[in-house]
Amino acid sequence: MSKVTVAKFGGTSVADAEAMRRCAAIVTQTANTRVVVLSASSGVTNLLVDLARGTLSAAEQEIHLKKLKSIQDNILTELGNPSPLRETIDSILKEIADMARQANQNSDAALEDRLVAQGELMSTRLFTEMMNQLGHKAVWFDVRKIMRTDSRFGRATPAIEAIHNLAQQDMAPLLKDHIVITQGFIGANADGQTTTLGRGGSDFSAALLAEALGVDELEIWTDVPGIYTTDPRLVKEAHPIPEITFSEAAEMATFGAKVLHPATLQPAVRKGIPVFVGSSKDPAAGGTWVRESTESSPLFRAVALRRNQILLTLHSPNMLHACGFLAQVFTILAKHGISVDLITTSEVSVAITLDQTGSQSSGRSVLNETVLAELNAFCKVKVENDLALVALIGNRMSEVNGVGTQVFDAVSEHNVRMICYGASTHNLCFLVPESDASLVVQKLHQRLLGH
Ligand code: ADP
Ligand code: ASP
Ligand code: MG
Repeated sequence: MSKVTVAKFGGTSVADAEAMRRCAAIVTQTANTRVVVLSASSGVTNLLVDLARGTLSAAEQEIHLKKLKSIQDNILTELGNPSPLRETIDSILKEIADMARQANQNSDAALEDRLVAQGELMSTRLFTEMMNQLGHKAVWFDVRKIMRTDSRFGRATPAIEAIHNLAQQDMAPLLKDHIVITQGFIGANADGQTTTLGRGGSDFSAALLAEALGVDELEIWTDVPGIYTTDPRLVKEAHPIPEITFSEAAEMATFGAKVLHPATLQPAVRKGIPVFVGSSKDPAAGGTWVRESTESSPLFRAVALRRNQILLTLHSPNMLHACGFLAQVFTILAKHGISVDLITTSEVSVAITLDQTGSQSSGRSVLNETVLAELNAFCKVKVENDLALVALIGNRMSEVNGVGTQVFDAVSEHNVRMICYGASTHNLCFLVPESDASLVVQKLHQRLLGH
């Protein structure tokens, strides 16, 4: 077969029938696009997450269910309400209502994932119908057959080898004659129970499928024409970056640029698959190519912002000249599946940051009572919220004189809580109060990345 591309469309790209038509045009423009990975239509996952939490009143639940139905109905009407799709969507909506009621009585993580997975199951059904009506040979594929994960509901870890084998066995043969339409974000454990990869996980799904199928390119279609120098919603002078390396883009995604899920680049890097990021609203506007190497490698490339950080300071006088304190801390965090972002240490304390946003599909806090109790048992624990992590992304930053002066001069009016610099030549990160975050990003961008 000639070149194969996996194309992923995010929530706004499949928000309604008109948006879906634009996706169909992008998919069919090149014969290479054989796998299409979709998010749920815009707003749907948020509604499902609310229902899954099991804390809505009966009246609120009804309003949520009506909103969900209306998003699906608008698309179905545009498609002419065809049978049996109408019945399929109705039965999914009924299942959602049943699960939401069940969640109100007794919610558990497995039920939450089954519920929030329904958005992608619906959007892919609708898009497959649209593609078929347009005369294309599209086939709906339940990704849970091949997207094998562990059982960590809400933020499951993919089983790379199993996904590769299953994708080769069950999906690859379809690509010859069909365009395969499948779900992002969702998977299943070895028992067949539905799992999810965490909020924004559809990018990651697409990259995992691209890796498993060994395709030539991955396209991420979203609502902006590429990866910008910073979030264009935050800084209007932000501009798209025509090309960026895997390492830089991975740092950006990890440290908060919402345009890519943090783990998206890992499979692409493992297989060296180039990634294109563009806007489904304006495909002609071009976008960003993420590749192994690029022509230019500027000192400063972009600024990323991740809000909602927790700063955890652990103080133990026993740490003085002692071994094993850090190991003890990290063993507890690892046992609870908590990943640490930044670390700084002093003689008797260690400060670490944890990401509170989007870490789990359900949005639950990563730091629960059990973890705190286990830490409290051997050290003094201080938890601070309302902090934001600012990351400056670039090249050879730790090898150039004066980087610190340039960066901290730009933000001299703000209280910088913690700094991490030097572990990677591609980033310099620091924490600031949440209330200062936007201004800090704007100032940094203006000073270091403005034209
Ligand atoms: P999708 O639903 O397509 O996955 P997302 O909302 O998850 O889209 O991601 C796209 C959004 O990411 C943009 O609308 C933009 O506001 C935000 N964003 C944050 N940082 C960046 C950046 N550096 N470049 C482009 N977009 C960014
Ligand atoms: N629908 C999921 C979410 O909103 C996954 C995604 O869109 O990537 O988080
Ligand atoms: Mg996204």
